[in-house]
Amino acid sequence: LAKEFGRNRVAFYDPSIDAARAERMRLADQLREALKEGRLAVVYQPIFDAATMQPSGVEALVRWLHPEIGLVPPDIFVPIAEESGLIDQIGSFVMKRACRDALDWPGVRLSVNVSPVQFRNPAFDSILAGQLAEIGFPPERLEIEMTETHLVANPERAQSIIASLRARGVAVSLDDFGTGYSSIGYLRRFSFDKLKLDRSLVIGITTDQRARELCEATIAIARALDLKVTAEGVETEREAAVLRQAGCDFLQGYAFARPMSAEAAGSFLHSTVPQAIALPWSR
Ligand code: C2E
Ligand code: MG
Ligand code: MG
Ligand code: MG
Repeated sequence: LAKEFGRNRVAFYDPSIDAARAERMRLADQLREALKEGRLAVVYQPIFDAATMQPSGVEALVRWLHPEIGLVPPDIFVPIAEESGLIDQIGSFVMKRACRDALDWPGVRLSVNVSPVQFRNPAFDSILAGQLAEIGFPPERLEIEMTETHLVANPERAQSIIASLRARGVAVSLDDFGTGYSSIGYLRRFSFDKLKLDRSLVIGITTDQRARELCEATIAIARALDLKVTAEGVETEREAAVLRQAGCDFLQGYAFARPMSAEAAGSFLHSTVPQAIALPWSR
């Protein structure tokens, strides 16, 4: 009704904007239903220790299995979840599912992405502590990935959440480093354990001198600040070689493993990788 009213009132009515909004509302309804009916899933992408090339962790990544569209990527539905108030529930679902799955993978670090919207909840930290205790997941094995958006919205709050997470033994990493506007300034202000270099910083490092130098300099900054570095989106072994030489600690990307089901991750993590296959690029 309100929409009909707006339609008559606004002189420069743009039907495409209205259609997009309607589509998002429809998706939000379907997402709410999917959450209820168990059509959200969590997949895991192994992360490798750059020195040994053994898997040392996994990143939990949410998926939506839509009956008509198929697999909807999180870049599409996470923003919809954030604006429709579903992100807290989805975040809780992912955290609990991932911790339960990762209980079977001793010694493997679990990274979970958290939306800035979830941090608005003042109880975020205590809810998380309750979930970890209930599942029996050791906080020392958990890593929370956050993006710069968290820090922009409310820096004081972000800093206090980072501090309380770290006090519990949970590691905190700055995700998508290199995509934002003032990332370097944030390194001075906030205390992270780790940086995740965005794929955009990795692309071209084997062919473009400037790309390579920018990437190496970024890793050097992180190391100077005693931060661990994970490179994301490593698609070739040659990229991996450059990154290892530059001092990158962890590697994640299609070159080594794609996101996979919990079951597949379980067998992947338990299988020992033959040395000859694991280290073809080692010096
Ligand atoms: P992210 O946290 O930066 O996750 C890395 C993304 O890069 C994942 O996409 C992963 O599948 C993809 N990726 C990994 N290796 C490669 C590679 O070698 N090449 C390329 N081209 N891509 C690679 P995905 O799963 O589609 O997730 C996209 C984004 O959605 C994530 O980016 C994260 O920001 C968000 N996201 C995923 N799961 C969750 C979640 O549970 N909660 C929240 N709040 N956000 C999530
Ligand atoms: Mg991430
Ligand atoms: Mg990232
Ligand atoms: Mg991303």
